[in-house]
Amino acid sequence: MKVLSKVALASLLAASLGSGSALAAGQQFVSIGTGGVTGVYYPTGGAICRLVNKNRKEHGIRCSAESTGGSIYNINTIRAGELEFGVAQSDWQYHAYNGTSKFKDQGAFKKLRAVFSVHPEPVTVIASDSSGVMQLSDIKGKRMNIGNPGSGTRGTWEVIEEALGWTRSDLKLAAEMKSAETGQAVCDGKIDAYFWLVGHPSALTQESLATCDAHLVHVKGKAIDKLVNDNSFYRKATIPAGMYNNDKDIETFGVGATFVSSSDVSEEVVYTIVKAVFDNFGDFKKLHPAFGNLKESEMIKDALSAPLHDGAAKYYKERGWM
Ligand code: GLU
Repeated sequence: MKVLSKVALASLLAASLGSGSALAAGQQFVSIGTGGVTGVYYPTGGAICRLVNKNRKEHGIRCSAESTGGSIYNINTIRAGELEFGVAQSDWQYHAYNGTSKFKDQGAFKKLRAVFSVHPEPVTVIASDSSGVMQLSDIKGKRMNIGNPGSGTRGTWEVIEEALGWTRSDLKLAAEMKSAETGQAVCDGKIDAYFWLVGHPSALTQESLATCDAHLVHVKGKAIDKLVNDNSFYRKATIPAGMYNNDKDIETFGVGATFVSSSDVSEEVVYTIVKAVFDNFGDFKKLHPAFGNLKESEMIKDALSAPLHDGAAKYYKERGWM
């Protein structure tokens, strides 16, 4: 009897360790790298995890969203195998997969996989009224937050800086705070403006514009036109009138927020995550106001430059979307 039950136990154990069935045994933890807590990446990771965790008992995956330094940190940490998923700007997804721009030294991250795209992220500059900054060109000689190292924001600022033909010393101060700290710094007059790429509405932008004497700035001109013309991952964008305290459209350009993973993450895990989001798409869209205009047909292809993860493609094919 004793021996038999040991055998039974052993075969159960073997079954639970066999391919894929670790999920059934409730053993799988996955983490999503996001951004600062007052941005849109963090609630995006939270929304995905919420839908995944709802059916935890059935699939055995426990999902958690981590606040991180942003896009480039997330991609590098997925590459190191320390995160399964991350939210990342489409420009940095492109460069990581192709080994270009900031990813030139590391080389192409060929295991990077696209899962789906999420909300648009326009380049967003919030300036104090007293700074007099109305246009991108007015920022010269001012104090601006350019983003913490590792953020997509910071990376894209460096691209814009080069496109404008500026060096770091063209700003009086180039602050490197994390996004969550920047609103207060503008309110307190410690900086004239902060720059970031974010979905709208976002909590931080909302708070700065509602509680400080501050406004949104247009980001346009010849250098921007050239960036948009030369790079498929940029497009012209507007922050619509009335989104915050702006009575007119703010003209700018931007990228898309995307959800990425690695080919080292199993098809089953990615399939389960994607299914949780798209089987409950109506609920997903209600979890953040920046998701209001999302469409499944666009999310499975727009702003994605790395190949789709097999687990995501499997679900999209099942739904007849591909
Ligand atoms: N796009 C930003 C970045 O990668 C993050 C925006 C957010 O936190 O919503 O730096």
